This record gives sequence, C-alpha cells and structure tokens, in this order.
Amino acid sequence: MKWVMPFEAGNAKLKETLGGKGANLAEMTKAGLPVPPGFTVTTDACRAFYAAGKTMPNGLLDDIRQAMTELEAKKQETFGDSERPLLVSVRSGSVSSMPGMMDTILNLGLNDVTVRGLARQTGDERFAYDCYRRLVQMFGNVVFNVESHMFEHALKRYKKDRGFTEDGEMTAADWMQMIDQYKAIIERQTNRVFPQNVYEQLALAVDAVFRSWNNQRAIVYRNLYNIPEAQGTAVNVQSMVFGNRGDDSGTGVVFTRNPSTGEAVLFGEYLTKAQGEDVVAGVRTPLAVALLQQEMPVVYDQLLETAQRLERHYKDMQDIEFTVEKGTLFILQTRNGKRTAKAAVRIAVQLEQEGLITKEEALQRIEMEHLNQLLHRAIEGEDKLDVIATGLPASPGAASGMAVFDADTAEAWGRSGKKVILVTEETSPEDIHGVIAAEGVVTSRGGMTSHAAVVARGMGKPCICGCEKLRINDEERAFVVDGVRIAEGDIISIDGATGRLIRGAVKLREPEIDGDLSQLLEWADEVRTLGVQANADNPEDAAKARQFGAEGIGLCRTEHMFMSQDRLPVVQEMILAENETDRRSALARLLPMQRADFDGMLRAMEGLPVTIRLLDPPLHEFLPNLEELLLRHQALVLGGTANEPEGEQKRLEQLIRKVRQLHESNPMLGHRGCRLGIVFPEIYEMQVEAILLAAADCKRDGVDVRPDIMVPLVGHVNELKLMRETIEAVALRVQEAAGTAVPFRIGTMIEVPRAALTAKDIAQYADFFSFGTNDLTQMTFGYSRDDAEGKFLTHYVDTKLLPANPFEVLDEDGVGQLIDLAVTKGRAANPTLKTGVCGEHGGNKQSILFCRATGVDYVSCSPYRVPLARIAAAQAEL
Ligand code: ADP
Ligand code: MG
Ligand code: MG
Repeated sequence: MKWVMPFEAGNAKLKETLGGKGANLAEMTKAGLPVPPGFTVTTDACRAFYAAGKTMPNGLLDDIRQAMTELEAKKQETFGDSERPLLVSVRSGSVSSMPGMMDTILNLGLNDVTVRGLARQTGDERFAYDCYRRLVQMFGNVVFNVESHMFEHALKRYKKDRGFTEDGEMTAADWMQMIDQYKAIIERQTNRVFPQNVYEQLALAVDAVFRSWNNQRAIVYRNLYNIPEAQGTAVNVQSMVFGNRGDDSGTGVVFTRNPSTGEAVLFGEYLTKAQGEDVVAGVRTPLAVALLQQEMPVVYDQLLETAQRLERHYKDMQDIEFTVEKGTLFILQTRNGKRTAKAAVRIAVQLEQEGLITKEEALQRIEMEHLNQLLHRAIEGEDKLDVIATGLPASPGAASGMAVFDADTAEAWGRSGKKVILVTEETSPEDIHGVIAAEGVVTSRGGMTSHAAVVARGMGKPCICGCEKLRINDEERAFVVDGVRIAEGDIISIDGATGRLIRGAVKLREPEIDGDLSQLLEWADEVRTLGVQANADNPEDAAKARQFGAEGIGLCRTEHMFMSQDRLPVVQEMILAENETDRRSALARLLPMQRADFDGMLRAMEGLPVTIRLLDPPLHEFLPNLEELLLRHQALVLGGTANEPEGEQKRLEQLIRKVRQLHESNPMLGHRGCRLGIVFPEIYEMQVEAILLAAADCKRDGVDVRPDIMVPLVGHVNELKLMRETIEAVALRVQEAAGTAVPFRIGTMIEVPRAALTAKDIAQYADFFSFGTNDLTQMTFGYSRDDAEGKFLTHYVDTKLLPANPFEVLDEDGVGQLIDLAVTKGRAANPTLKTGVCGEHGGNKQSILFCRATGVDYVSCSPYRVPLARIAAAQAEL
C-alpha cells in the first residue's frame, strides 16, 4: 500500500508522513496501549491530492479499501454490514499541532440499514440513532459545509416543542425524526443527499479532510504559527469506540500535569454518556477527572498508569484523549500538552529534577511566547475590585478592555486601536481572529480544555471559561450577570489566574520571577556567552532591569529626561534662545537636573556599564505642535486678552516662528543626532559635563561607576572624530574641577548604513559600537518606521512579500549583513572594540540567535524582556 499505513506499522518518528496524531497513534499501538485499530492516509497523499488539482491520487481509494479489509478482519466487523457494521472515525492530523483547526467525522459507516444492525448488536436503539444523528450532522457540516447552527437550531426547536431541556430526554424515535430533519436540511441547503453507500461516505470524508487543510481557519492558524502550507495533513481512519453508550461510558481529556500551574497531578475533565468533541465543545460543563476515581476506580487507575507511562515515554507532559466504553478504557490521542508559561517553566525544571531530561533540554523546552506570558501582568491591589462573576481560571494574566460579543467586532475594534475583551458563550475555530485581536477572552460555557482555553493559553492571553452565570444577549449586545448589565463597549477586567470577571478597569501589576524561573535563568547564565543588557532611561527601570539580570544598560536615551513637566519649559527656552549666551544660560539650568538623572542611573547600575546616548531627536520634538499653537493663537486674538497675561500672545508668536523655522519635511533624515551636537556643541557639552560630574560624585562616595558616552547617528568618521575631541575637552575640564578622573568610554551608535560600511574608519575613534537596529532597519530599507506599518508593511507581510516585519525580526540578509560587516571591520581596526545590539530586536529570539552567530558581545532590550533574552541566548548555544 503506497498511500496508507496501518497504526501497527508506523512510529513517532514518522511525523512528517503520518502527521502528529497518526505518528503517536502508531507509537502507542506499538507500545501495546489500548488504541482502537486503524490506519493513516499519509501527508504524501494530501500533497498528491493538491498536485492533482484536488482529486484523489491514483491508487489511493484502492489502498484505503485494502486497509479497511484488514481492519474488518481485526474487528470482526464489516464496513456497511447490516448485522455487524464496522464504524470508523475520520480524523485529520497535521504535522504541527493545530488544535481544532481541522475537522473530524465520527460514526462513519452508519446508514439507514447499518444503524439497525448497531441497535440490534448493542441492544440499545437510542444509542444507535444518537450515533447516526451525530454522523449526519458532522458529515453535513464537514463534507457539505452546512453550518452547524442549522442543525443545532432544528434540535433546539424540536426539544422546545416537546418541553425537553436535555439531549438525554430524546428517545430513539425522537432521534429518528431528527435524522430525517437533518437529511432534509442538507438537501435543502446543498441539493445533495446524505450518502447511504458507506465507501462513498469514506471517500467524501477523506476528500473533505484534505480540503480542510485550506479552509479559512486553518490558513489563519498556519499564518499565525508560521506552519508551511506544503506540509499537508494526514487522515486517520480509526475504528470507533463509544463513550455515549451508558453510565459506564464516557469521554474525556487528561493532562499528565496541571497545564495551568505545572503541578504534578493528573488533571482533566470527563463527561459520561458523551462522544467526541462534547468535552471540548463546551456542550455540557464536564466533571473533574478526579470524580472518575470514585465512579470507576479501576478505569481511573488504568488511566493514571497509562498517563505516567506516556509521560515517561515522551519525556514531556502529555495531553491525552480517552474514551471509556462500558468500563473499558481506550486511548485516542496523545501529544505534548499545551501549557501556560508558568507550567512550562515548572514542568521543565521538575522533569530535570526527576532525571527525565537534562538542563540543556529543560532550557530548550522554554518557548519565548511562554516567557512573554510569564512576564505578564496581574491585578494590583485586591481590595475594591467589583467582581461580578467567577469562572474557571483558564489562562493566567490580567487585562482590561471594552466588552465585545463577537469575533468580528473584536477584530474591527482591535484594529482601530481599542483594547477589547471578547465575551461569548463559547469560541470555535471560526473565532480565532477575534481571540487574536482581544486582550482576553471570557466564555460562559466550556471547561479548562475548551477551545477558548486552549487557544488563549497558546497565545498567552488571559481567559476565563465556564462563567455560567453570564447571560449573553446577542441582540441587545449586552450581558447580564446577577442583575448587573454590561453593554458592548463597557470596560471590564479579567483575572485569568483566578477566574474573576470584574466590572471597570483595574490597576495592573508587573510580573516577578519565581523560584522555578530563577532556576532556569541560572542554568541559562551557565550556558550562554552572549551578554544581555537593558534599555532604560530612569533609575527605576534600571533597577528593574538589574533585578531581571541585566548586565548593564545598553541604551539610556537622554531625550526622555528632557520631556518631563518641570524641564520642558527650560528645554524650550534653550531651543528658543536667539543667541549662544541665552542658550548657555538655559543649559546651565538643565545641567544640575541632568546631573541628578545620571547620578541615579549610575548608582543603580553600580559595577556595570551604563551606555548613555547624547541627545538624538530633532529639536522641534520638544516644541508644541504647530496646528495647536495656531489654534491657541487664534483663540487668544479673537477672545481678547482678558484672562491671559500680556506677554502670552508675543510668546506664542515667537514659538510659532521657531516651530516654522525648525520645520523639516523629513525630520527622521534631518537635523538630529550628532548633527545637532555639531551645530550646537553646547548641548552635548552640557550633557557630557553632567555625566562626568555625576560619575565623579559617585566615585567620591566609593561607588564604582562605568559610564559609556554614545554619540548617535554618526555617518562619517569626521563626525565622530570631532565629537570625540569635544567630549575629551569637557572631560579634561571636569577632571580639573572635580579633582578626580573617572574612566569612561566613547562610542557610537551604528544606525546609518554608511557608518556600517565605513566601520574600519569609525572604529579608530570608537571604544564601542552599538547597533541601533531600529534606525538601521529604517534607513537600510528606506521605510519610515512610523508610517510603513499602516501604509504598506502589513500588506507586504500578509502577502508574504516579506517573510516578517523587519522592525520585529531582524532582516538578516540585508541589515544583518551590515552588522556583520561592521563588527568584522571594526574589530580589525580596533581589537578592543565592544559591540552590542540595542533596539526592539535585542529582545527577539530569532534576532538574538543571529546576534550570537555574528559574534556581537551583547544584546540590549527592554527590562521585561531581559529574562527572555537570557534564555534565548542560552538556546543559541544549544
Ligand atoms: P481534534 O484534532 O479536533 O482533537 P480528533 O480527531 O482528535 O480531532 O477527534 C475529535 C474527537 O473525537 C476527540 O474527542 C476524539 O477523542 C474523538 N474520536 C476520534 N476518533 C474516535 C474514535 N475512533 N472513537 C471514539 N472517539 C473518537
Ligand atoms: Mg476538533
Ligand atoms: Mg484530538
């Protein structure tokens, strides 16, 4: 058989061919676990299907028929037989885990005749027709694309007419009527007939799974997780077991450890008299698996033992689907379980301590997304929270935002920059774009393993599930809970760690590092060779960075120090000065303020380098916006000057004149960076004086400080040469005045492509290079960072014209080449040259791997990304 492989012939290594699900079913079969027999149609067949213009490749149907014959022999049942009908599930299974993204059909092989055989064989007519109606619905949905709600609606109405509230009240005769209705719905909607020929059912189902590889939600998911389109999906055909047969039957999902906290206890959910997706779909809220221990202790022990065995085998926490049929346990799927960041870290550390994996493996287990999530917010201050409901704590983190009730609104509002919380009864894969856009998710139904919970955990967003008291009214666009009404657009907050739904906004607290994470970080520091520093502009951030393990400040931007309320007037005075004397007098008043700033920074980073960048932005950024000034001026002129002091109008006019004078049509490429320091040297002189005076103060107090003075935006060696002379002259002056010499280094930011290209020359005047990859990317691509995203860059990335947004992921081929070149040439000219990368890229894993490969000495990123960078830097070594 070319296109098909029975479970017993495969193994876990054949994931590329069998898909994740198929490979693990094979592995478990080989290990002797109770897996219902079946076979896998390979991903090769899927690729061949697409290559042949969405038609079944030659020989596939024959192979399937042959595999079915073998399966019939194993099960002692016959596909389509009126007495002992073989029933199968048709399950998609891609190579990369895509939970809920593809469609599965259960109970295939039932028709008007075989259903009677099943009823006779099991002595349970109601059960048989329950299975059949499920098949017609799933088949109608997956194969014929009839929307599920059409079926659900019909069922709801049927139950309502008879006063039923639960599916359990439906008799065999009721299901028979539903089946007729379902068939009629299919015919009405599609002009097609539910096929009675079981091989036709099977062929159509396989075809549909192949096609579902390219359905909208699969594509969205693939794009989100960068899963290659060419991978294709496998199809698993597996003999059915039934969790819907009676009280001693059921279906469930277990994790070998708690996927929220990482605690090493069996964790999961279980529903009696249920089949397939009933647990995850949130149709009924399931029971904790611990209850199974009371109801069926033997089955529970067997499940526990199997779970532990699977975990040891795969050396990782497993997410296991199981079904109990009349007291017998069957395993239907296992995979490495999705988990929260907290759990990921805890499990990695525990598995190392249990001797299952090495430290290096533990480090490799940590995903950047996880760390991102771990360094997530929580609610600050527990009192005065207006908690209106509590649900299941499905994914940790806290968020506030406007309530919205459907995925499309979430996306639309999210696009327009609003923070939203998606509130729905439950989510399905069709809602994934809404989850992406939302800050967090709340559902009124479904458990810890529901779709919303799984997806939110994967994305690191807070989520509350099964908030059953919520009454959502889609028409009114509002929900009510215990008499409290929240309308669309009202602010709510959620705490995914405790499951609390809160009215109004809350204050969020930044995260801290716990014992497990410190352990991992310690291991990371043992392994890594790349330095990790932080970008921080004030002593508080610097202290935070240090606490997170930063080995210095790679970038301290001084312009932020100019922006604060008390300084801006003095800064403006400096800018408005008509001559050097006036300018110097304003600068003289800024000096002590800057001196205090640097004092704080340097002390916070005692013993570590602090790279201080001299003023970079164009001066007009410190002045009010022109239109605003003109409006104010107009108001003043029209309204008279009754309430305004005399000089106000004159001052405004002066401001307007200056703003116009400083106006540049291309400020990003204009009078900024060292160009400013060269034309107005007194500004940089003041800053350097403030840095060195502060350093001298520290030194006098016995504090070991290491200032690095960084000149921005150098493009020509002469710029740095001149600036170096200026800085050294100031240093000499300060040294004489202070009576002590403080060691410092002078370096430059490499952010203009020409600087990278002429690194050999520039390095002669630089003690260090710091790659400002934001500007370097902007100037190398010629993309304005502030405009590109909204105008064309998103389109470029969506259409895959660019592999990624170069402002997020360093462009290795272009920008990276410049870095590589500058490091090499710079070091050749100056062997003691230090090199680092600052900018957004310093906290991005892919970019960190690249930095390591290029041989730069350190990366510098925002304080909250420092732990992430430490782990990524360790992973770069493995
Ligand atoms: P998904 O990838 O969405 O989890 P699955 O193929 O795993 O889809 O199946 C959906 C549900 O149907 C799961 O709960 C699974 O355990 C159940 N299921 C699949 N095949 C069988 C089978 N042969 N017998 C009983 N239940 C099955
Ligand atoms: Mg599914
Ligand atoms: Mg599954």
